[in-house]
Amino acid sequence: MPPRPLAQLTLALIKPDLTANRLKANRVLGHIQQNDFTIVERKTLLWSKTDAEAFYGEHRGKFFFERLCGYMTSGHFHALILEKPNAISDWRALIGPTHPPRARIHASDSLRSLYGMTDTRNSFHGSDAVETAKKEIRFFFPEFDFERWEQEQRKGNTLES
Ligand code: UDP
Repeated sequence: MPPRPLAQLTLALIKPDLTANRLKANRVLGHIQQNDFTIVERKTLLWSKTDAEAFYGEHRGKFFFERLCGYMTSGHFHALILEKPNAISDWRALIGPTHPPRARIHASDSLRSLYGMTDTRNSFHGSDAVETAKKEIRFFFPEFDFERWEQEQRKGNTLES
């Protein structure tokens, strides 16, 4: 049997506005499963201003920074580690463009098109590259054992081949 395509991990956030709406948040979990992502880890968090400023530090000084931190501290939100081959690009494709009005034009069935409200309140986050995913997973799940996960991937492939 040919080896399975290598699985990849990404960090996803379901931001506070959507987390507050249990019905919609459950629908999103349905989208995640229908699109063949495995939820490896999941936690619900409430951020302080300091947490938000640390995670979004690269945006400090931009016109939307204060608004973004205010939004991300407005309520609980879900952080998830998602697994799938090409998880990083597949998750970003599923959530769609940053700005929901643009998503509604260019990616009408994306999650930001369906659930996003405004440029800031866009309901989702997804890591944009392998190194970022690792850094962001460590930020939210410092206890996550990457080495063990990689070992299990290798073992799975050996057993199947
Ligand atoms: N954001 C905003 N206005 C903008 C661009 C971004 O409020 O013009 C917010 C939005 O919530 C976005 C977050 O800042 O998700 C981080 O921006 P980034 O450019 O990293 O977009 P993403 O990778 O989340 O699509």
